[in-house]
Amino acid sequence: MKVFHYALRITHYALFFCAVILLSSTVHAEEMPFLDNFIPWSENRDRLGDEYTLKHYGKVIREIVPQAVVVHWTAMGTLESNWNFFYGEYRDDGTLNVASQFICGRDGTMWRIMPETKFARHIIGYNHCAIGIENVGGYNGNEDLTDAQLAANVRLIKYLHAKYPTIKYVFGHYQQNAARTSGLYIENVAGYYSLKSDPGKIFMRGLREQLESDGLIFYDE
Ligand SMILES: [Zn+2]
Repeated sequence: MKVFHYALRITHYALFFCAVILLSSTVHAEEMPFLDNFIPWSENRDRLGDEYTLKHYGKVIREIVPQAVVVHWTAMGTLESNWNFFYGEYRDDGTLNVASQFICGRDGTMWRIMPETKFARHIIGYNHCAIGIENVGGYNGNEDLTDAQLAANVRLIKYLHAKYPTIKYVFGHYQQNAARTSGLYIENVAGYYSLKSDPGKIFMRGLREQLESDGLIFYDE
């Protein structure tokens, strides 16, 4: 009888630990709403980043303290072709290539392509403090981003906001002027500017509807 009780107790503990492991892996999956598919990093990429940040922000920045999430569309390609594009280190003029920390495919597949706080060049004036999400779409300037992409962006931004309480703003690339009221904009090169329409008003409205109640600041369309 004693042996039976002992066995029962062991079984009880075993079940308890199984439950803990199951629960923690489930929570883990929910906490990471993306897949890691990092672009290979190099010293050259760091060097190009140093040149960019020194020129445009007045100091070398390799790690950012995220204060904003900026949403984009790629206007071209697929998830894979955009990954390949961002893997490139140079723009045509020999400066650091553009890239965001995340790319979202048409079916909502979200890839983290570099660590979240690595410096990336995706929006003039805000790269020093903004995490970028690229959404595959916006072909010919059409507002064609999908519901799956919207849901994936909402999940990711919730995750980032929880992880980095310093994040206060979410805006689309096209809202770069409106976002200057945040006080985050820094650009040392006079006249350095690029007109943008991504990721479209419809997509930003969708994000705002689902995220503004979390205390994040959005801008009017
Ligand atoms: Zn953009």
